[in-house]
Amino acid sequence: MAEIEREAMEYDVVIVGAGPAGLSAAIRLKQLDADLNVVVLEKGSEVGAHILSGAVLDPCGLDALIPDWKEKGAPLNVPVKEDNFYMLGEAGKIRVPNWPMPPLMNNHGNYIVSMGNVCRWMAEQAEEMGVEIFPGMACSELVYGDGGEVKGVVAGEFGKNPDGTPGPSYEPGMELHGKYVFLSEGVRGSLSKEVIAKYDLSKGHCPQKFGLGMKEIWEIDPAKHREGTVTHTMGWPLGSNAGGGSFIYHLENNQVYVGFVVHLNYENPYLFPYMEFQRFKHHPIVADLLEGGKRVAYGARAISEGGWQSMPKMVAPGVALLGCSVGMVNVPRIKGNHNAMLSGKAAAEAAHAAIKADRSGDELAEYETEVRQGAIGQDLKKVRNVKPMWSKWGLMPSLALGGLDMWTNTLGFSLFGTLRHGKSDAAATGEAAKFKPIDYPKPDGKISFDRLTNVSFSFTNHEEEQPCHLQLKDASVPIGVNLPKYAEPAQRYCPAGVYEVVEEEGKDPRFVINFQNCVHCKTCDIKDPSQNINWTTPQGGDGPNYPNM
Ligand SMILES: Cc1cc2nc3c(=O)[nH]c(=O)nc-3n(C[C@H](O)[C@H](O)[C@H](O)COP(=O)(O)OP(=O)(O)OC[C@H]3O[C@@H](n4cnc5c(N)ncnc54)[C@H](O)[C@@H]3O)c2cc1C
Repeated sequence: MAEIEREAMEYDVVIVGAGPAGLSAAIRLKQLDADLNVVVLEKGSEVGAHILSGAVLDPCGLDALIPDWKEKGAPLNVPVKEDNFYMLGEAGKIRVPNWPMPPLMNNHGNYIVSMGNVCRWMAEQAEEMGVEIFPGMACSELVYGDGGEVKGVVAGEFGKNPDGTPGPSYEPGMELHGKYVFLSEGVRGSLSKEVIAKYDLSKGHCPQKFGLGMKEIWEIDPAKHREGTVTHTMGWPLGSNAGGGSFIYHLENNQVYVGFVVHLNYENPYLFPYMEFQRFKHHPIVADLLEGGKRVAYGARAISEGGWQSMPKMVAPGVALLGCSVGMVNVPRIKGNHNAMLSGKAAAEAAHAAIKADRSGDELAEYETEVRQGAIGQDLKKVRNVKPMWSKWGLMPSLALGGLDMWTNTLGFSLFGTLRHGKSDAAATGEAAKFKPIDYPKPDGKISFDRLTNVSFSFTNHEEEQPCHLQLKDASVPIGVNLPKYAEPAQRYCPAGVYEVVEEEGKDPRFVINFQNCVHCKTCDIKDPSQNINWTTPQGGDGPNYPNM
């Protein structure tokens, strides 16, 4: 294809991704200097369309950014009133009392929110201040300057044929240049991945670790609804097959978020995270709650779990990585939105000071210092051993020792130092010959659902006439390597049924990619044992359309 000519627009700061990190950065830049030119580009059809964190929000990030958020009508309407934690067996449960938990685990003062709605509200605040926000604009490429610095992104390329050539309605998109580019793409961002590799930013840090989070929104019988109640569970059905657990949050309007996280470092390639989630809903504690209710939405997204040890260097010439682009989730609290917001604020402050000093295209080292030494670092450092303990020693020992370690860290020391994470989640996958297939019960269509039916409740849409955005580095690997060695786990780890191995009598097996189903969770890019799948952005506006997740 001939060299593509694109128009370029110049900004002070170009921000990729309208999640809590990117929007906080935009708002803070305008608070500091109303004359700065700031643009936010979002691949979802609208702000919030790709945000999947039906969340308990620690408001400390918002307090720091917009102290009068209440008066300004932020959609934080449901304070947490009750906090429960259960260990589950197949039919029973044991309540773990709140008193032995370290104070950081307490949810009082937090709010049950739709982060999609919080982001929509933040976008309104940003636009009122003059930030330009363009939804439906996927940033597909980085633009580098003559000195090797990141100087911008390509956004809004549309209309390619499936083979990658320009189609009849081809639009080349634009280059958006900035003195600084902020990548706030969330977990496993495609441009962030390129930057981390190009500048070797992970050197000296542990590999990033991930979970797969799946979530449904239910409307339940009002008699069973207890607004403000937060419940977490561990144990059944995962047992020793994988780490993970569930969350059940009662928000307003008789709605409940029911979610399930499976740590992606599981070994057994027959494990089927989506079916574990469906099975979990048949535990009496959940089934009783959901019976007579209606599932109104479904979605999935990877969650970063490496924490303190896994955050790579977060700046390179011209570019800063914000929020979960580097993984800022506090794993035992299952919270990352507050840190995403604080990171956006810190990056904005560093960029503002640099631009005032006539700098551009260099490293915002001040941003990284603030993340590691400020509130985000303090939040993540206290819990840094919980995940490696869980991976090394299993659930029960890690609950006891992790609890002890969080207590001593609250007092300022750790008996364990800083434990390191082991291999990447892809490398943790074991060979199929060493495991037995797992027999999952069939969904009943009332409480549990088959994958494709549920995917239709993510309202995902991808224009079919475009190149497949899930690129195989080597097309022979799924059938030639992954199938004999790992029983091709893509068929199971994808929560949207994108990948299929089709076996027909008398024919060789075929690997089929139904990219139209993709909910942008990025699990394939993370978990493929051969690291052969590269998640790239499809056309802007494509993907899930989450209502109020
Ligand atoms: C199931 C689940 C439950 C969770 N529960 C909680 C909770 O209760 N409390 C909590 O605090 N945290 C929770 N988290 C973690 C929280 O979601 C993250 O920490 C947070 O979303 C990180 O914010 P972010 O702005 O970095 O990224 P994101 O929120 O992921 O936002 C990134 C945005 O960038 C856009 N984008 C990405 N790439 C591009 C591109 N190339 N071009 C254009 N746009 C792009 C995306 O569409 C998205 O809108 C949960 C996560 C999951 C998966």
